[in-house]
Order: sequence, then structure tokens, then C-alpha cells
Amino acid sequence: MGTYYITTAIDYVNAKPHLGHAYEKIAADCLARYQRLRGNDVFFLTGTDENAQKNVQAAREAKKDVRTFVDEMAENFKQLCKAYAISYDKFIRTTDPEHHRIAQLIFKRLQDAGDIYKDKYTGLYCTGCEAFYTEKDLVAGKCPEHQTKPQEISEENYFFRLSKYRDWVKQHIESYPEFIQPETRRREILSRLADEVKDVSVSRAQRDWGVVVPGDPQHRIYVWVEALMNYVTALTFPEGDYKTFWPADVHLIGTGINWFHTVIWPAILLSAKIPLPKHVFVHGYLTADGQKMSKSIGNVVDPMDLVTRYPADALRYYLLRRVPFGEDGDFSESDLKNAINGELLAGLGNLLNRAVTLAEQYKGTFTGSLTLPQKLDVTKIEFHMDRFELHHTLETIFQFIGDCNKYVDETKPWKLTGTELGTVLNNLLESLRFLTIVLAPFIPRTTDTILLQLGVKRGMWKDLQPTPFTGKPKKGTHLFSRV
Ligand SMILES: [Zn+2]
Repeated sequence: MGTYYITTAIDYVNAKPHLGHAYEKIAADCLARYQRLRGNDVFFLTGTDENAQKNVQAAREAKKDVRTFVDEMAENFKQLCKAYAISYDKFIRTTDPEHHRIAQLIFKRLQDAGDIYKDKYTGLYCTGCEAFYTEKDLVAGKCPEHQTKPQEISEENYFFRLSKYRDWVKQHIESYPEFIQPETRRREILSRLADEVKDVSVSRAQRDWGVVVPGDPQHRIYVWVEALMNYVTALTFPEGDYKTFWPADVHLIGTGINWFHTVIWPAILLSAKIPLPKHVFVHGYLTADGQKMSKSIGNVVDPMDLVTRYPADALRYYLLRRVPFGEDGDFSESDLKNAINGELLAGLGNLLNRAVTLAEQYKGTFTGSLTLPQKLDVTKIEFHMDRFELHHTLETIFQFIGDCNKYVDETKPWKLTGTELGTVLNNLLESLRFLTIVLAPFIPRTTDTILLQLGVKRGMWKDLQPTPFTGKPKKGTHLFSRV
């Protein structure tokens, strides 16, 4: 089979993880698990972006040395992954010496290509983003991410000849419509590329933190630039896993960093003579009860708090089902409860409970024609998964769960005996076995519990072929509790 390389953005460690971080990792995890089930060799990368200057300030405020501070903060993100069953293959930290070494190697390639030059730079700088903005990027003169007024900064630093690559990048995006998804995000970038593109500053004059510019220890590689390189440094470019997994199949990112990933990053790769990633998928932002999450409103949802009150799988399900993937979505705790009591408990949990209770009492063999499992539209599921339509995949699966419960209502197996009962149970248990496969990318812990109760081994995607059920069902605890 093939290989599949998926990445999330790497997270700033100056604050604790919020729900958006959890959301992005859950979506990436779902895609990674799906590709593994398909039999592909998957490399799933996530990690932390630790070279930002603001970590130096945050550490100072916390009265810690920077190294201790970033170690502690990175741990929060690892805990987040653990809590939500994020099955990453590597967690990169950009303070890893290996990242520094390889980022310098790539930067050296840009220098060798003649694409780096020194100049005086004056720009509008947002310390929150650690990014320079043009007047056009600002909303009412303020940073769109932070709603603060950027400072005008003037310093001597290194520039990358982004202008040289504009036409090429533009043509690439036009020729490969699937490169940036969804289409709305692609059009945003193309409309920006219709204008002139200026060269970008790629270093900061600072000495205390970050990756040193090759040949000039007075400068550090601008954090945004060296953070992008993590996708390649994590694979030990130009050797090791790089040879197996690059180019990436998909970089999963949020809206705010689209330009960096679909214009600046391709230009850097082109200059460094590295092939481009196949897809960049841009997911939306989450609101809470219809409002933007913000510290001042006090409605910031803490994913580590949530997961102490609800099962991680319920949250995974909720976010992947209710938020149309690629669009903005809303998080509402009352709707989360609806999802738990409704689809997960009354739908899936009830189905398992009914089937296993009857099967435990049944002494015969499971035989008869398997009509029910064939109602699961696997082709449709694959269609949606290949298009990153995770919410549609779940719709399709839960429609099938509805069909299964209807089948129980109609066949009334509690009134049946002998081969008639054997046939109904064969259909129900085999359908549940199918569900453990197609639901595994979404709610992995729950499908493990179902497998245990069915008494069958975990299957791969290719095992979605109806065969007489052979497990030994045994009732266990309920999948979800009513909330
Ligand atoms: Zn900002």
C-alpha cells in the first residue's frame, strides 16, 4: 500500500491549549486513523512552536528560565493529545537541536539560491502574532487575530525573494485546484496573489532565542519561517523518513495561517528545491454558543476541563459531526449533551445493548443471508473521507445505525427463536462489527469497547465484507452514560 503524511500546525506554547487546538488535532487524528485502516503507512506529525520571542517574555513573567518554561508548556500539549487519543507518530518541538540543524540547512539552500538578502525593514509588527502586516491585512488598523494596533518597527534584517516566486506559486494554485481546500480559501489566496507580492523579512535581529541565521549569529531565523520548516525537519531531511513520506499528503491548518502555508511555504520549498505538499486543508474557527471565544468575555472553552466532564470520544464525535469540516462551527455544551444522549446513547449504545443482550442468551450459530450490513454505504464513506468531509461521513454512518435500530424494531428478535433468531443476530452483530471499523477513526476508544463486547478482533477496512459472525458476545458496561 501507499504512504500518507499528515501534519497539524504546531502550536505556540505561550498559553495553554484551547478548544481550537484540540479540534485540529482530533480532525488530523481521524484522517490518520482512517488511512491506517486503509492499509497505508502513515506518519502523523504534531508538535509545538517554541522559538517565539514572546516565550522569553512569558518565561520572565513566570520567573522561570526559558527552557524550563517551554518544557512545561509543551507538556500541556502532550497531555492534550493523550486525553483525546491523538495517535501522532511524532511530536516535534522546534527547540529540538535536530530541528535547528535542519532548519539551518534549508535556510542555507535559500542563501545558496541567491534568494536571501539583507535590507533595512520598516513594518507594522504584531507582537502577539510575531508577524509583520501590511495596512491591507489589518482590520480597522488592528491585527485581525489580536485586535491590537501593531507597532511600527524598523530594523536591518534578511529578506526572502518572495516576489520572484509569485507567478510560479499563483500558477501552481491555478493548475492544481485541490492544492488549497476548501475552494473559498483557495479563492482568497488567488485574489491576494492578483496584487503585487513583496519580499518578506525572514530574520529578526535578536541573539537570545531561536534558530541562528547561518553565517550571522547576530540574527535569528524569523520564527514563522523556521516553524514552517518543521514539516520537513521532523522527517530528518534530506535522509530518513523524508525519503519515505515527503511530499506531505496534507497540512491541516486554521484560516489565520493560510497565506504562510500556501504562498510563503511553497516559495521556500521551491527555492530549496524540495517538492511541494499535495494538499493544504484549511479548517474553520470555533465559536462558543455563537460568540467568539475570548478571555474578556470569559467564554473560552478549556479542552482539558471538558474532558474531565465528558468522554473524549463524545467530544471527538461532537466536533467532527456538528462542525462542517472546512467551515466555522459553534461549540455548545447543551448541544453536546444532545449528541451524547441522542446519537451516541439512544442510537449506537442502544443498538449494541440490544444485540449483545439477545446474543448472550442465544445458543445456536449465526447463519442466514446478510442483508443488513450491506446497507452500510462504504463507497459513500470513502468518497466523503477522500474529500475531507468528515461530517458527511458521520451522517452516513449514523444513518446506517438508524437503519439497524429500525431493523430490530421490525424483526422483533425477542419474539424469535432458532434459525430465525440466528439470522437476525447474524445481521446485527455483523453490522456492529462493520461499525467498529468505520467508526474507529472518529471514536477509537468506544469502538475498542464494542469489539470487547462483540468478542471479535479489530478489523481493517478490507474486512468490510459480510461474513457469518464468529465472535462470542458478552455484555459489558454501557458505551455512554446519560448526561
Ligand atoms: Zn496579532
